[in-house]
Amino acid sequence: MPRPIEAFIHVDALRHNLARAQAAAPDARVWAVVKANAYGHGIERVFDGLRSADGFALLDLAEAERVRALGWRAPILLLEGVFEPRDLELCSRLGLWHAVHCAEQIDWLASHKTQQPHRVFLKMNSGMNRLGFTPEAFRSAWVRLNALPQVDEISLMTHFSDADGPRGIAHQVAVFQAATRDLPGERSLSNSAATLRYGAQPGQQPQPPLRNDWVRAGILSYGSAPDFPERSIDDWGLRPAMTLRTRLIGLQSLRIGDTVGYGSAYRAQHPMRIGIAACGYADGYPRHAGTGTPVLVDGVRCTTVGRVSMDMLAVDLTPVPGAGHGSELTLWGEGPNGSRLPIDEVAQAAGTIGYELMCALAQRVPVRVVDAA
Ligand SMILES: *Cc1c(COP(=O)(O)O)cnc(C)c1O
Repeated sequence: MPRPIEAFIHVDALRHNLARAQAAAPDARVWAVVKANAYGHGIERVFDGLRSADGFALLDLAEAERVRALGWRAPILLLEGVFEPRDLELCSRLGLWHAVHCAEQIDWLASHKTQQPHRVFLKMNSGMNRLGFTPEAFRSAWVRLNALPQVDEISLMTHFSDADGPRGIAHQVAVFQAATRDLPGERSLSNSAATLRYGAQPGQQPQPPLRNDWVRAGILSYGSAPDFPERSIDDWGLRPAMTLRTRLIGLQSLRIGDTVGYGSAYRAQHPMRIGIAACGYADGYPRHAGTGTPVLVDGVRCTTVGRVSMDMLAVDLTPVPGAGHGSELTLWGEGPNGSRLPIDEVAQAAGTIGYELMCALAQRVPVRVVDAA
């Protein structure tokens, strides 16, 4: 029998979450962002759940080939554009749309030989200072691209640094709008956080009014709240797309003063039962999750004790006296009897975000795709 750890990808949850993005941006088309192997879920596994998107956005050319291999004929966008000139050949061959964020990428396009003019998304650095042309350089980049026979349509995009937080997006929206006012082309501004927080909500006007022809829905599709803990997935009406589940493979009864695991990082203050679960950091569970990290045992909320080791972690079984060898543990996602542990809560206990945990699901964990619909 294999180790009892398993991950589940919930296709119906992906479908539901994508519909939430569509509802929040009713006037926009939606890119389902599937970079990083669909945030660790697996491109092939999420494809059916996200196929009602208007396009797939990603950054790795091999991943774009995988999406085309699934039979997807609609748009695919390379969010970082091409990395070297010959990548443009693949763009021509597979009909990939690509971001253009720097002068080098324009140079490469200018010397690219193609029968198929490319659809490009010209990216502005409106304040994040990662990729993109400054507002001052944006117009001349547009003019240069517009003159190239290799270029078909030019869309305009930018990315927000603070859509999930108190600083918000207004400063970047103002910069973007001022520098693009008289430029034609479709606009793509919002990631998940901006789509949800500045999107259509019943009885509320979007503020500031944001024109988005395309929103880029990443994390929300996978059932993590981009602005946790301010808002949870329940607040946003999202459902976990990934469940990580295992079983108890050992039990210990601790006396006062007994310690648990490496470094004796936990010491019992009273007699207690603990369970040893078949899940460790080599499965992708965060080692930085210390004592007190939430976990469900038979659907009942419990907490971990001591350090996470490579293949195991320990759980305080006080809330579930009936738990024993083989009891089911939900590390995150959907538990039995309608119980649920959002990945965001585990991430918070480990000092990180849901994105990192889902992306880190280890290769050795068997994954099953389930579709309740
Ligand atoms: C990853 C990414 C997104 C999606 O971000 P989420 O926060 O997951 O919605 C959107 N746009 C760009 C440019 C990205 O790189």
